[in-house]
Amino acid sequence: MAEQEETVQIRIESLDTAIDFPVRSSKFCKACKGSGIKESKSCPTCCGSGSIKMLDCIRCNGTTKIEKGLRCNVCKGTGSISEAKTKDFLEARQFCEKFKKNPAKTILIFLACLAAIGICSYIVSGYAFADNRILRHSWYACTAFVIGAAAFLYMMAYIHKINAGSYQPAFKKFMTAGAVIALVIAAIVIPGPIAGRYSWIEREAKNNINDAVSRKGLACQKVSISSNDGDVYHGIATISDGKEIKINIIFKKVYKAGYAINYSIKVEPVE
Ligand SMILES: [Zn+2]
Ligand SMILES: [Zn+2]
Repeated sequence: MAEQEETVQIRIESLDTAIDFPVRSSKFCKACKGSGIKESKSCPTCCGSGSIKMLDCIRCNGTTKIEKGLRCNVCKGTGSISEAKTKDFLEARQFCEKFKKNPAKTILIFLACLAAIGICSYIVSGYAFADNRILRHSWYACTAFVIGAAAFLYMMAYIHKINAGSYQPAFKKFMTAGAVIALVIAAIVIPGPIAGRYSWIEREAKNNINDAVSRKGLACQKVSISSNDGDVYHGIATISDGKEIKINIIFKKVYKAGYAINYSIKVEPVE
């Protein structure tokens, strides 16, 4: 009597069916000590069975080679991958299929993430360039930092999935990932350190000037800073009567027992 072959059933969403995959070999799962349970959840290493079951690689069908005779990048040329890896690959593959069918959705999410990263970088840079202490103590800046970081991680998770499930050649994948990373760096640097470094000081100076000129029935419309020498910032204030005044903004930390506990901002017209 032929020995019955052990199989694992894996659902393939895109085909709306479950397929039995023959098990090539299996070994004791050390991650859950064979119990199938880790941290009161199904063990992710062995998919809850207590043993790591190796299946024919779903990418190369166990042949170890892919198109053009290249070594399979999913099983790294071994011909078999674990049940968990098979499921991961299928999930990533499905993500790629969906992306191919409807790229607009993913691209929109990417653009929204880039915009969020840009706005957050602008806010955070404004605080950080004035004084790191204000950055740490402002819930507004901290929230911006967390949102920006979340958008960044979300994008990276997307890129990882696209990379893992794509049938594109390695070079093309590398170029795509490189282009996305370049966009992310641009979204951080251009609105942030380049355009946003004076944004906090400009806002504070505008408030100061407004307080001073409001007695005369005027308002400060805009402060734009062009450069700084340490804590002295040089800029121009535009007043509602149309005047443009050259100003120096002096940022001063207030110390107590050697620690900066507060700050003051003084705006002076340039003689
Ligand atoms: Zn396990
Ligand atoms: Zn393979």
